Amino acid sequence: MVTRTDLRTVRNIGFIAHIDAGKTTVTERVLFFTGRTYKIGDIDDGTTVMDFMDLERERGITIGSAATAAEWAGCRINIIDTPGHVDFTAEVERSLRVLDGGVVVLDAVAGVQPQSETVWRQATRHNVPRICFVNKMDRLGADFAAAVGSMHRRLGANAVAVQIPIGAESSFRGVIDLIRRKAYVYESEEAIDAVETSIPEELAQETEDYRKRLVEKIAETDEQLLGKYLNDEEISDEELIAGIRNATVSLQVFPVFCGSALKHRGVHPLLDAIVAYLPSPLDVPPVRGVNPKNDEEVLREPSPEAPFSALAFKVVSDQHVGRLVYLRVYSGMLKAGSMVYNPIRRERERVGRLLRMHADHREEIEAAGPGEIVGAIGLKRVFTSHTLCTEGQQVVLESIAFPDPVLAVAVEPRTRADQEKMDGALTRLSDEDPTLRVRTDEESGQVMLAGMGELHLDVVVERMRREFHVEVAVGAPRVAYRETLTRVAEARGRFVRQTGGHGQFGDVILRLEPLPRGEGVQFSTDISGDRLPREFWSAIEQGFRDAAQNGFIAGYPVLDIKAVLVDGSYHEVDSSEMSFKVAASMAFKAAAQKAGAVLLEPVMRMEVVTPAEFLGEVLSDLSARRASILSMEGQGGTQVIQAHVPLAETFQYATDLRSRTTGRASFTQELDHYAPAPSLVAKAVGA
Ligand code: GDP
Repeated sequence: MVTRTDLRTVRNIGFIAHIDAGKTTVTERVLFFTGRTYKIGDIDDGTTVMDFMDLERERGITIGSAATAAEWAGCRINIIDTPGHVDFTAEVERSLRVLDGGVVVLDAVAGVQPQSETVWRQATRHNVPRICFVNKMDRLGADFAAAVGSMHRRLGANAVAVQIPIGAESSFRGVIDLIRRKAYVYESEEAIDAVETSIPEELAQETEDYRKRLVEKIAETDEQLLGKYLNDEEISDEELIAGIRNATVSLQVFPVFCGSALKHRGVHPLLDAIVAYLPSPLDVPPVRGVNPKNDEEVLREPSPEAPFSALAFKVVSDQHVGRLVYLRVYSGMLKAGSMVYNPIRRERERVGRLLRMHADHREEIEAAGPGEIVGAIGLKRVFTSHTLCTEGQQVVLESIAFPDPVLAVAVEPRTRADQEKMDGALTRLSDEDPTLRVRTDEESGQVMLAGMGELHLDVVVERMRREFHVEVAVGAPRVAYRETLTRVAEARGRFVRQTGGHGQFGDVILRLEPLPRGEGVQFSTDISGDRLPREFWSAIEQGFRDAAQNGFIAGYPVLDIKAVLVDGSYHEVDSSEMSFKVAASMAFKAAAQKAGAVLLEPVMRMEVVTPAEFLGEVLSDLSARRASILSMEGQGGTQVIQAHVPLAETFQYATDLRSRTTGRASFTQELDHYAPAPSLVAKAVGA
């Protein structure tokens, strides 16, 4: 008999943060405090912070696993890893797909930083409820109110404090729980557990002001509470907590907590808040998918009785167990040793063992039900974003969208030995990372790595060196240009061969139309089946799509066009799918000649944060990089510049910016859109 987890006690969460905000430290503390062997009192009395760190090391806490299970207050908290850097937005995207709630970690000095904005937008797009932890309250310059204010200002978020800090900077001593009107004080520098006391006199008024604001905000989200509030009736703590939970799960408010992960302060209450306010798998809408047999929408309830469905969200090669596929089960039960169906590849595979990953050990489990996160061993051809289901009741869950690579580099093994190891290393790395593409350039025979940015590709090369001991020389980065059309044009492609017996005959007229940016490559038909038998239509579409992949100016894939099959003719004997494929490709090339083809270049959205004194220097450098400045905003002594910059002009920017500003400015960037490249650039790439 398989034991079933009570779904109300499961929280699938991720910590989301700008680099350096303290995500790693918070996660470590959480894993430590939720460790099974930890008991309050274990390391009390006279123990120092150093001991604490040693213990942590002894227990071999590892973080950075794709998902780690922790227990707190009778709940299982599955922590799903989310990366911190913008070059890895695809990673963030996939984590956001499988988690139910997020904890946004902010630096109490910096408040909301550029990248927090990017991730915040992504989380909003995925409807992920969030609570916020203002970390580093012990740092010089820490300002809780300003951090909450930056959430309003920069994120437009309805953030509301549920706690306030006692003191700040070196005098940060604990937190006040606004709901229960209690203070939690850490009595010594080394204290790990807080002592509950009454509210310090000097904070009594502030507590009441903040509490009033909290009650007001929550009342605004709930009619019953609003009625009570307006009639001056007492709202109980329990009612308030339930109200906060509902408002958080429905993304109407974002509760804010605070602490110092480094000093272990505020971490216990944060864990309580995760349990109290973030949703269980039952609180989020049923997952949506499509029945691959008839394209109809399917909803799957998080019930063990429903047909099985799960999403693969990460593949890693694990040093102990080999290929490990992380799955989130959405419905039904997944049993170790059972057969599952992969509707994307249309094949069955056997799941071997199932593992639940804890901070310091792995637990083998017999089965996993809805809402659970497990690592599956034995799946050889399941990749990130694939759905698994039962063959009898198929569903394809909305897959995780990964952007196409924007940048490529050639890599050359340094020695023959490196050559031999490189293929294996790249197979493994691209197996784990769906945004990394590896291909061999047909003309030069070079191996090309394509990815999301300079940093992404640097990391891949570094991992080859460290984990696989492969040394490579890396070529100059090359931009992944695209091509498109600006006018409507029509052309005929005729492919006719008479070679004695069985000949070839294909005759097609295609009309090409430009589409708005982001529409992709489309195909439609405006012809009857009498004129041209339907059996050839999909060959024509295939011929067109293959040709579009290879572009017509400089060999880059074509974006945002539509081909309409408007006419054609066939031969009873000689026509075949092959001949129509060739004819379609000929028609495409002929039409493209007349359709005002242009080269498109990737344009990044860049944010540079610099001390005001370097503003002029930074701006003139940006203008030399063909940047268009979108906005400039002063924040204290710093300036925040938003700009669009063509990717081709951003190479080495990290190094240049550092040397121009003595290392005091920072920047982040992500792909924003594609825009026509100036003719000089187009000429340089052979367009
Ligand atoms: P991540 O990049 O978000 O994972 O951040 P880390 O957890 O690696 O922390 C970045 C730096 O901030 C490290 O040097 C930490 O020791 C430090 N840090 C983390 N939490 C705190 C905190 O609460 N207070 C202070 N003063 N420093 C912290």
